[in-house]
Amino acid sequence: MFSNLSDKLDKALHTLKGHGKITEINVAETLKEVRRALLDADVNFKIAKEFTKNVQTKAIGQNVLTTLNPGQLMVKLVKDELTTLMGGETVGINLGGSPTVILMSGLQGSGKTTFSGKLANYLKTKKTKQVLLVGCDVYRPAAVNQLQVVGEQVGVEVYAEIGNQNPVEISLNAIKYAKANGKNVVIIDTAGRLAVDAAMMTEISNIHKAVNPQETLFVVDSMTGQDAVNTSKAFNDVLNFDGVVLTKLDGDTRGGAALSIKSVVDKPIKFIGTGEKMDAIDVFYPERMADRILG
Ligand code: GDP
Repeated sequence: MFSNLSDKLDKALHTLKGHGKITEINVAETLKEVRRALLDADVNFKIAKEFTKNVQTKAIGQNVLTTLNPGQLMVKLVKDELTTLMGGETVGINLGGSPTVILMSGLQGSGKTTFSGKLANYLKTKKTKQVLLVGCDVYRPAAVNQLQVVGEQVGVEVYAEIGNQNPVEISLNAIKYAKANGKNVVIIDTAGRLAVDAAMMTEISNIHKAVNPQETLFVVDSMTGQDAVNTSKAFNDVLNFDGVVLTKLDGDTRGGAALSIKSVVDKPIKFIGTGEKMDAIDVFYPERMADRILG
């Protein structure tokens, strides 16, 4: 995970680590390399620039040049800034409501269906919830089948209405069904398209308005870098979602999406997906991730 970024940041900070005394030039050069490492990781230019500016301001404020261990202090400042960039605090999901309704949004292939299964499993085992999964993709019967397979894997019932072309109706019926059958969490997996389009946005916006979810999650493939950031903006403009799920962090992702999304949409990353299996889900901890990146 982020191995390239980790290597580059490590290299950038390495020269400072051994020094008992450092100069302003050392700091400037290090920060330039840190910025380059962020840009290589596909973090956008403005965010990378702001990042190094913030670290520099703190370095001056804490008199980095005259401290006993300037290298270590610089590493700490970079780590703190990475944590802040990724959201600072961990934000959990809202499990209020009766039942709690969780709406999944995102492009096709982002990992929505897989994550719906993972979340159902997580809530079932960690929070002993009674979960109902809802298949709302009225265009691809295969998508509903996939959800059924996932539901079977995690032992969670799947609600679908084969032949009904109205996802708003299916969602509302599913909530009624949940109430009548003792389910206290409803996870609605929606249809995705390969790119953002108006019809898709209208559809998900209509579902969102009708079911008024406690939690709307935007699922995004972390491998898509800056595209992930642009897509998240488009979805947030329409849904004002509550949180982000970053999938495929087990792949060779450069890290740009993880590092930029919070700044761009000001919504927390709540979960990450780290594999295809149903237990490959983790709550997102910005500080732990920063620790991991800086080794
Ligand atoms: P959807 O179209 O948004 O519902 O996406 P899917 O859930 O069908 O996922 C698309 C592909 O990505 C599938 O092959 C999944 O197995 C895979 N996938 C989903 N999440 C992850 C993840 O966290 N890591 C990896 N390696 N693959 C994932």
